[in-house]
Amino acid sequence: MIPLRITVLADNCVATRTTRGEHGLCFHLALGTRRLLFDTGQGFVLEDNAHALAIDLSAIDTIALSHGHYDHTGGLPLVMAAARAPVTVHLHPDALQLKYHVGTSSTRSIGMPEAAREALTRPACRQVRSREPSEIAPGLYCTGEIPRSESSAEPTDTFHLDPQGKEVDPLRDDQSLFFDTPDGVVVLLGCAHAGIMAILDHVRHLTPNRPIHAILGGMHLGHASVLQLQGVIEKLQPTMPRLIVPMHCTGPRATAALWAAFPEACQAGGAGAVFDFNVNQGSF
Ligand SMILES: [Zn+2]
Ligand SMILES: [Zn+2]
Repeated sequence: MIPLRITVLADNCVATRTTRGEHGLCFHLALGTRRLLFDTGQGFVLEDNAHALAIDLSAIDTIALSHGHYDHTGGLPLVMAAARAPVTVHLHPDALQLKYHVGTSSTRSIGMPEAAREALTRPACRQVRSREPSEIAPGLYCTGEIPRSESSAEPTDTFHLDPQGKEVDPLRDDQSLFFDTPDGVVVLLGCAHAGIMAILDHVRHLTPNRPIHAILGGMHLGHASVLQLQGVIEKLQPTMPRLIVPMHCTGPRATAALWAAFPEACQAGGAGAVFDFNVNQGSF
């Protein structure tokens, strides 16, 4: 087993007095001697929060991107500039697509910022573009693309691949991280655009006979209807994770519903929150 300390470097709210919030998500993972990031936030709070939490951004050796939205990739240039050794970046090829939020009155680009695209082309950056599940560090796995199911339907109608809003972005780039512990599997979500239940189904498929122990991250339920929220809670009930940390884009109503349904399991996230695990190696 390898000790893993997960520190939230960026989130929409804060867990300590010395960190700042932004609309974004970044997990720092200290796995034995390895230093990884899952997402990079927008980049507004990354350096200040790393400083406040005594996290050395120059030691990062690996970054996994959950998807191509700006609030998960905007900090890439900062990390690449700070890195003292080459950095491996794992991403789904569709993370590089142009992405737009098309609203009733305005349209804005929400894909990977230009500076982040440029950072990926630096000589010190080794890109690994894959749609498949992969082990990115000992015992730490990326789900790759999540197969979609009926139950995974999410309100993604405002996400598009063109500024005119003609082509819906299926967000095939959405991927999560997972690892096994003595208590079961832990899943880290970016925005869960693939749908939290579809993600958990895929993780279960990749980790046969292991219970889901914990779920942390963005669950993208801000626009979910009461019925959809009920469906998520009903489907989570048999899983009974011991730890649920709704963060980032989960939304206040969904967060409240999860806390009400799973009062023993829910814990607050926020920049500065720390979670310790022991990672089993070679489980899958
Ligand atoms: Zn997103
Ligand atoms: Zn997001």
